[in-house]
Amino acid sequence: MAIDFDVEPEFQKQVDWVEKFTKEEIEPLDHFMSAGTDKNGKRLDEDAWKAIRVYIKDLQAQVKDRGLWGFHLGPDLGGPGLGQVKLCLLNEKLGRTRMGPYIFGCQAPDTGNMELIAHNGTEEQKRKYLEPLLAGEKHSAYSMTEPHAGEPGEFKCLATRDGDEWVLNGEKWFTSNGAGADFLIVMAITAPDKPLIERASMFLVDRETEGVEIVRNVHGFGTPLRDNYDTSPGRGGHAYIRYNNVRLPADALLGTEGAGFVGSQTRLSGGRVHHAMRAVGVCAKALDMACERALSRRSKGELLSDLQMVQSDLADSYIQLKQFRLHVLYTAWLIDKTGSYTREIRKEIAAIKISAAKVNHDIIYRTIHLHGALGMSNETALGDMWMSAPQMGIMDGTTEVHKANLSKLLLKNYEASDDLFPTYHLPKLILKAQNKFEKVIDQYLSN
Ligand SMILES: Cc1cc2nc3c(=O)[nH]c(=O)nc-3n(C[C@H](O)[C@H](O)[C@H](O)COP(=O)(O)OP(=O)(O)OC[C@H]3O[C@@H](n4cnc5c(N)ncnc54)[C@H](O)[C@@H]3O)c2cc1C
Repeated sequence: MAIDFDVEPEFQKQVDWVEKFTKEEIEPLDHFMSAGTDKNGKRLDEDAWKAIRVYIKDLQAQVKDRGLWGFHLGPDLGGPGLGQVKLCLLNEKLGRTRMGPYIFGCQAPDTGNMELIAHNGTEEQKRKYLEPLLAGEKHSAYSMTEPHAGEPGEFKCLATRDGDEWVLNGEKWFTSNGAGADFLIVMAITAPDKPLIERASMFLVDRETEGVEIVRNVHGFGTPLRDNYDTSPGRGGHAYIRYNNVRLPADALLGTEGAGFVGSQTRLSGGRVHHAMRAVGVCAKALDMACERALSRRSKGELLSDLQMVQSDLADSYIQLKQFRLHVLYTAWLIDKTGSYTREIRKEIAAIKISAAKVNHDIIYRTIHLHGALGMSNETALGDMWMSAPQMGIMDGTTEVHKANLSKLLLKNYEASDDLFPTYHLPKLILKAQNKFEKVIDQYLSN
């Protein structure tokens, strides 16, 4: 009996510790940072933010002591090498918070970028970029999407050779953390006339390199537009970047020339799974909120939890969450088993990427609805959580693109029938069965 839903008691202790640490330390930090004021309504000044940064370092030290810093990494990169299933059990706890991934050294986009440099970087690139990234001393961004197109075939940002240097020209946008990053991994076209798969390369670009211009720091809806014009580091956001004749040394190339798109798929595959793991946490939190509210709120003398339509919504949310979580865990288990992103695994990753958006949407919507006006207010975390649903359906490839991909991968396991009727056409199957059983009966009677 190989299937077992338990983990070793030692690891369960780690999961329990993360759950407690998240509730007691990270959730209050989230609340304090998002309020940005003290209890008298005074905005936090630079000294207060400095104190918070030191406090964060202290939390990170506790995580390191516990052996959980960078828990997504293998031992070769200084991580505990837990594998994806255990990663899922931890990530779903962190998914309930904003700062959790940062406190544990496993925040996007740094995690995917670590993977990229670890797999493709030279020793020198690893020393300069990967090591400080792993230590949490530097931060990175991934600059691929362009303002006019999210689809690689349409990309225009160009890197051309000039002697020993590369010259980068073009625009990118929605580069998460671009304004605050120490360096960027930029996808640029290096061979416009080659087939798509060989057309692009990746470059490591220091954020301070001459010609890297942050045009705006784009935020999600809900944030005032004026914040987009504050391009100073530390403000979060997704940068709109113009690369103006950025001159890069030859060794800024990450991986081999022309391998950019293939490399990006490896990076995005891991990131998609991690996002799905954290989405489980977001949905679980929404369901917890819905249950507490249903048990606490009355309408026409009855508790909401006693109303059948509320019960139906709670049941639907529970089922969706359980199915989604099991699918994410199954995908994690498959990755652990094979150690690479095989076709079968890419199919499952596409599927959980698609469901992450749908399940988030459905569960959070029901929870908001159940909370009535309170759900629509900015006095719960639901507004933030609601944002995560459409985001999930867009970032790292849109739902439609993943659906197209999933169906292609699914269909590879099937063959067309060249008969007029399909292989499962009952008259044909019955005739086949009748032929078989005619023989069975004849044999029985002749004995
Ligand atoms: C929160 C967030 C963070 C992000 N972070 C980063 C980052 O760090 N770095 C980065 O480079 N990018 C980042 N992105 C950008 C993201 O990768 C793109 O938004 C995504 O790839 C889609 O591209 P697009 O926005 O240009 O949409 P488009 O490609 O223009 O798509 C628009 C619509 O057309 C539909 N569509 C497109 N193609 C097809 C098709 N073949 N069949 C059917 N429908 C189709 C899409 O599904 C979608 O509904 C981020 C996005 C978000 C929301």
